[in-house]
Amino acid sequence: MIQILHHGAVNGVTGSCHELRLLQATKGAAPSASAPTLLPASNLHPGILIDCGLFQGQEESRGSSAEDLAIDFPIDHIRALVVTHVHIDHVGRIPYLLAAGFDGPIICSEPSAIMLPEILEDALKIGFTRDRALINRVLELIRARVVPLPYGRWHSVLEEEAVSLKVRLQRAGHILGSAYVECDAVSGSAAERIVFSGDLGAPHSPLLPEPSPPERADRLVIESTYGDKNHEDRETRRYRLKAVLEHALEDGGTVLIPAFSIGRTQELLYEIEGLIAEFGDKEIPQATKGSDPKGADPTLLPAPSSKAGAIGVSPQGDRPRSGPRSKSLTWSNLEIVVDSPLAAEFTKIYRDLKPFWDEEARALVAAGRHPLSFEQLTVINSHEDHLNAVEYLAKSHRPCVVIAGSGMCAGGRVVNYLKAMLGDARNDVLFVGYQAAGTPGRNILTYGPRGGWVELDGERYDIRAQVHTVGGYSAHAGQEDLLRFVEGIPQPPSEIRIVHGDDGAKRALQAKLGKLVPLAEVKIPG
Ligand SMILES: [Zn+2]
Repeated sequence: MIQILHHGAVNGVTGSCHELRLLQATKGAAPSASAPTLLPASNLHPGILIDCGLFQGQEESRGSSAEDLAIDFPIDHIRALVVTHVHIDHVGRIPYLLAAGFDGPIICSEPSAIMLPEILEDALKIGFTRDRALINRVLELIRARVVPLPYGRWHSVLEEEAVSLKVRLQRAGHILGSAYVECDAVSGSAAERIVFSGDLGAPHSPLLPEPSPPERADRLVIESTYGDKNHEDRETRRYRLKAVLEHALEDGGTVLIPAFSIGRTQELLYEIEGLIAEFGDKEIPQATKGSDPKGADPTLLPAPSSKAGAIGVSPQGDRPRSGPRSKSLTWSNLEIVVDSPLAAEFTKIYRDLKPFWDEEARALVAAGRHPLSFEQLTVINSHEDHLNAVEYLAKSHRPCVVIAGSGMCAGGRVVNYLKAMLGDARNDVLFVGYQAAGTPGRNILTYGPRGGWVELDGERYDIRAQVHTVGGYSAHAGQEDLLRFVEGIPQPPSEIRIVHGDDGAKRALQAKLGKLVPLAEVKIPG
């Protein structure tokens, strides 16, 4: 018998962690010696884990104690961990898995093998320990355990008398290195192909090729983050992104984009570079509606060179100040700031892994463009430079885009920007990703357009900045994309399990899949 268990990602937006267990007919499986009170799993019933993640809303936050995150299910029988992609809600608990005694291989795609130690180093520093030697030991352990598996190649995890298990990774189009996992499991007379979707990407998202449906799936475990929504098509969202950026160009405001470090940041940079390349010298009609309380000229003001140096922008102190219409302002005046050492690091890794980009992106590189390292891009690393940039940009009248984490405003550097900028109507907050219920991001999205407020670090901040959301840079498939993925499987699965998403999204997808694949049992594990 082949069993699928869920140790997370079942309710709400918990971290993802699933298990595939091969139950053997042998009687008398002894309880695990190291964890006698837990379920009677044993080496007689070997299994693998698919992902081992942390709560999504906790990216870069310091909320949880080690006990909350400790592994609370038996692992003695777990022979391998397969990682679908390196978002923290899929890998964040790996250090806890190691601490609990897991000693098997960590199987992941080649790009994920490069990125995994980087993301876990950050997670360890924030949530686990500040002990550098301990961090290094854990990272060494992870590097030693990682087995990079090329896409499309079968890999045998175990091959024993009555049980065997092979896995294969396929491109999921979600973030660089993301994969869905095909598992060929045999236990006695039972033999099944079980597919775990991980997070699937939206088609036509920048940079990565879209996923192709699996050739077979007897059972399918599928994510449902956007199980109840469809994304705008690429042209629409590009147009909307352009409109928000033009607002900043018109009145010298800042566009603040809270974004996950991996995936969305790079997609946005790619898209912004594309806009700058297309509209580069086109003049922006400047507005006279600048809301500067002192009535100052809403066009570019001279930048103090020290502050400009701190955020890496070129000083423009020698430019004459003039009326709003006497000077042209173009897209090339737009400054793009990535204020996150982690996002900067991953942008570099994305740049290094061009062979994994899609054809369109590779064609741009061949044509001499640099989609992820263009002239107007500034990266902020140190905390001091970050504080300087917040202060400077809040006062300046220079059009600027700031990308900073965390993606749901639940912590990280974006919070300082929000505090400084939410109160000014020149500024814009642009959400590009999923905002979980209860996060400040969700509250800004809900109450901002009604002229409300949001609580940050225990204080209320009025929201006068415009609040926008552009779907599709979320790097998650929308409802139609998920349905197309399932529909594309030549022989429909007999069972589909919906995980990873709000209850409403899961129910909506369940209803659609019930109609699409009437012979399948469509479950929401709970
Ligand atoms: Zn993800």
